[in-house]
Parts: sequence; structure tokens; C-alpha cells
Amino acid sequence: MTNLAMPHPYHLDNWQKSISDLITNPNELLAIAKLDPKNSRFSKLATQVFPLKVPRQFAALIRPGDWDDPILAQILPKVDENTHSTSHSHDPLKEAQFTPETGLLHKYKNRVLLITAPHCAVNCRYCFRRHYDYQSNSPSQIEWKQTFDYIHRNKDIEEVIFSGGDPLALSDRRLAWLINQVEGISHVATLRIHTRLPIVIPQRITKEILEEFENSRLKIVLVTHCNHANELTKITEHAFAKLHKAGVLLLNQSVLLANINDKSLTLAALSKKLFSQNILPYYLHMPDAVQGTQHFAVTELKAKEIMEELRGMLSGYLVPTLVREDPGAPSKTRV
Ligand code: SF4
Repeated sequence: MTNLAMPHPYHLDNWQKSISDLITNPNELLAIAKLDPKNSRFSKLATQVFPLKVPRQFAALIRPGDWDDPILAQILPKVDENTHSTSHSHDPLKEAQFTPETGLLHKYKNRVLLITAPHCAVNCRYCFRRHYDYQSNSPSQIEWKQTFDYIHRNKDIEEVIFSGGDPLALSDRRLAWLINQVEGISHVATLRIHTRLPIVIPQRITKEILEEFENSRLKIVLVTHCNHANELTKITEHAFAKLHKAGVLLLNQSVLLANINDKSLTLAALSKKLFSQNILPYYLHMPDAVQGTQHFAVTELKAKEIMEELRGMLSGYLVPTLVREDPGAPSKTRV
């Protein structure tokens, strides 16, 4: 019989092994967290709507015996997810309206977002794409050609964003192919990559990927996604130092999440730790109104109070911009 709580080697030298050996069994996660699966907060049912997926080294950062641990709270399926809310929907950002080609979102004039990967290394319970139909939005090889033709034709597009899913969940070869396609479009100057991989599996930052970034003619901006200082370790520090050295601009976006980071002290600690790892805080997002995530909601009034306190605690460049996404708006809305 397997001892679910037994320590694990985490494949620290091989990110592919880590990503193919994720924790998907809630009982295993709860055993690592030293918590009782019979507790009424946990819901196995919630995993049927949005499965559990967590890299082992990320789960190892959970404080044992604490239901309110800020890492556990981001990844554990809870009974609150099963409550239906009339103010929440499956596609609150109306992304389907802005999809002229399969897997391409064109919401803002000078930039497009590509759904490059249909999966992530971790399933964050508050994810705004938790109901996204990756199956129908994953381009075939012919559709990829149409997508890049669309960018070629639209000369206003200066920046391409790789999103997902998580673009760094792709193989180096696939990623290199995608970067190469963008490099071939002369009016595109910047490639932005939205990823949580360097936080949850920092060994994803391999020599090969660093060479790819270093040798690209594009300005590479990597936007990480980190919500709490406890997610940043010596290993992430090492990964971000290598990216910084390779000339990659490092920014972070967080989501303001009830009972996880909705305190000025918590956010100040996050900003300082990000900065110590060469990352500038960029956006703090109000959570989107996605069905199953209503328990993460923070009111705008409370968010503004937190921001006011934060401005008194940090230098201006360490204060992220508080934003929300309004469907159809020409840019993010500052709160
Ligand atoms: S990494 Fe990003 S896209 Fe993936 S589940 Fe988390 S929030 Fe959603």
C-alpha cells in the first residue's frame, strides 16, 4: 500500500517528469497537508467540474495542518465551488466574441493573445478560464497558419501574447516553433508570455529556453502569476535570476483573493519578495465573476482601502495597479 504522505523527490532536475507526475488525487494532497478528507470544507464533487492538478514541489510549500494556508487555499477543491451564483457565469469576459481565428483573442488594437497550450501545470481554483473550451480553441496546424496570417495582415499588432493554459507547459520544440512564427512578422516587436510555470515548477527555466529568449529579435516580457510571498523560494529566485540575466523583462500579476492575499501587509510582503527576485509587480486583478469562484470575491470598496494602505507602505514602483476586466472595454479598467 502506498503511503500518500511520504516525501517525494520532486524531479528537481527534470521539469517534464514533474509535469507528468502531478498530484491529481485530493486525498494525496490532503495527506501532504496533514488534513482530514472528511472535513466538510473539502469537496470531491468540485473536481468533476475542474480537476485537481498540483506539482509536488508546490504542494510541499503548504503549511501542514492549516486549512487556511494561502497555497492550499488556491488549489484545494472546496464545497463553496458547488454553490450556483446568478451573478457569475462561465465566460464573464465574453472571450468568445473576440475570437476571429481559432485560439486567437483580439480585444485590444495593438496586441493579440494566443491560446498556445490547452493545459497548465496547476489548476488554480479561482481561474477565469476554468470553464474554457480548450478543445475547440486549440488550433490545428492549418488553423495556426490562418492565425499567423491574421497577425501578418493586421499591421497595428505590435505585441503578441502567449497565454493558455500555460505556454511554458509546451515542449521547447513547440515553443521555439511558435516564437519563430512571431519573429517572422516584421511589425511585431514584443512577445509577452503569461505563465505560472516558473513559480510552480521553476526548473522549467532550462538552458534551452534561455537560449531561445536570448537569441530572439523580439523583446521578451515574461509575466508571472504569483499571489502570495510563500510561493517564492530559493529555487524560484535562481530561475528568475537566469531569466533576468538573459535580458527578459519580468513582471508579475496577482489576483486579489479573499482570505488569501486581501490584506495590505500580505501584498506588501509579496511585492518586496517579488522585487528581491528581479520581478516588478504589474497588475492586481479583481477576481472575474466566474461560476464556482464566488467565495474568492473581494468588494471594490475593500480593494480600494487595501490599495490606499499599500501606497503608504511601499515605493510607487512596488505598488501593482488594481484593475478589473470589463467585457468590450478598450483596455483593462483601473479600479
Ligand atoms: S495557471 Fe493561470 S490559466 Fe492556469 S489554472 Fe492557474 S490561473 Fe488558470
